[in-house]
Amino acid sequence: MAIEERVFIAGAGPVGLAAAANLVQAGVPVTVFEARSGLSEESRASTFHPPTLDMLDRLGAAKPLIARGLIAPSFQYRSKRHGILAQFDFGAIADATDHPYRVQSEQFWLTRILYDWLRTGPGFTLEFDSRIRGVVRHQSHVEVAVERNGRSVTRTGRWLIGADGARSDVRRSLKVTFEGFTWPERFLVVSTPFDFAAVMPGLASVSYVADPQRWHFLLRIPGLYRVMFPIAADESDALARNPDFAQSLMATVVPGISNYEMAHVTLYKVHQRVAQTFRLDRAFLVGDAAHINNPLGGMGMNAGIHDAINLTSRLADVWHGSKWIDELDRYDRQRRQVTREHIEKQSIQNKRNLESDGAEFGKRLRYIATSPDRTHEFLLQVSMIASLRRAEELG
Ligand SMILES: Cc1cc2nc3c(=O)[nH]c(=O)nc-3n(C[C@H](O)[C@H](O)[C@H](O)COP(=O)(O)OP(=O)(O)OC[C@H]3O[C@@H](n4cnc5c(N)ncnc54)[C@H](O)[C@@H]3O)c2cc1C
Repeated sequence: MAIEERVFIAGAGPVGLAAAANLVQAGVPVTVFEARSGLSEESRASTFHPPTLDMLDRLGAAKPLIARGLIAPSFQYRSKRHGILAQFDFGAIADATDHPYRVQSEQFWLTRILYDWLRTGPGFTLEFDSRIRGVVRHQSHVEVAVERNGRSVTRTGRWLIGADGARSDVRRSLKVTFEGFTWPERFLVVSTPFDFAAVMPGLASVSYVADPQRWHFLLRIPGLYRVMFPIAADESDALARNPDFAQSLMATVVPGISNYEMAHVTLYKVHQRVAQTFRLDRAFLVGDAAHINNPLGGMGMNAGIHDAINLTSRLADVWHGSKWIDELDRYDRQRRQVTREHIEKQSIQNKRNLESDGAEFGKRLRYIATSPDRTHEFLLQVSMIASLRRAEELG
């Protein structure tokens, strides 16, 4: 079997295509295998953090993404009991990023933008209806079993990047364990065209509302608000999916307002898991294949894009011979450690904060908000810039 002089990528999600774009821009040929017959249209991530926008800008993807989305210069914390606790403006970290704001946009716009650019140039192929099922590692290449129309075909490339999501076949085939846990509660996301800003004075585009009984957060995307609620362990999936139940939760958001028009109602399981390693010789794990966390703080996809850029920048150097192969160990060392130290820890802390009545949490936030230095440090952390700086420090 002839070795294809290419990097193989499993999965055409936001992380797989960001990896492909960074490699192709560096002159490295790529083949992406995608199990579906087209790009996903699922409504999932919608927050792009400042450093992610900086990275996407270098791939020419930030401007079209911003044009499709909504700029959120600030975000706020509230509690049901104490009202607005604090508001923070990303302008305070304009010294650290070219994009001192979040962009609220569906992740499927990013995959379309990247694919539209990639398909017009050389060195890129995307094969749909092609699921990578098995991986065999060799010293100089990687062999994959690709399942297409019920048949299995063997293909051989130089490197393999597993960007095939939380249930990654690449991870399973490599026998890498996915350590962590699944929360007993699930999260319900309700999308509505109702304009909350018209009835909630001072509402920011992203607002987290703490409550020990049932917290929620409100997030605006073009044309819709998304409202997320936890569903307790003793509330069944069937109950949670009942539209009347969703309406009863929505009725708690603004006293006196009920019967919302609901565009989508989706129930998600929530996990905190990190793969035991992100690299095995010529095979790598990135994005949800490598780590998953609860969506509070909007970090999953962003961290996945950070993985993709970290790995593929090194891989391009190794491909062109300007760095030795052990350069790739730094990908595993840096990204796995910051996933544990920052992404997993912070997303769990964000959940705990929302589960409180907001009194102590509010005190902490006001302590931060009253000092420019503390605000700067806090925003570096929330925007994920601190995690990228930490990764660099790890060498
Ligand atoms: C409700 C919700 C809200 C969220 N909000 C945010 C947010 O605001 N910000 C944020 O950063 N993150 C958020 N996330 C997380 C985010 O959606 C994921 O982290 C992100 O989709 C991961 O991207 P990925 O490319 O790694 O994986 P995926 O998006 O899952 O893409 C994987 C791709 O691989 C394909 N595939 C699967 N198996 C194979 C195979 N064996 N061979 C070939 N192809 C395969 C799939 O079809 C898919 O196209 C949210 C998640 C949820 C559920």
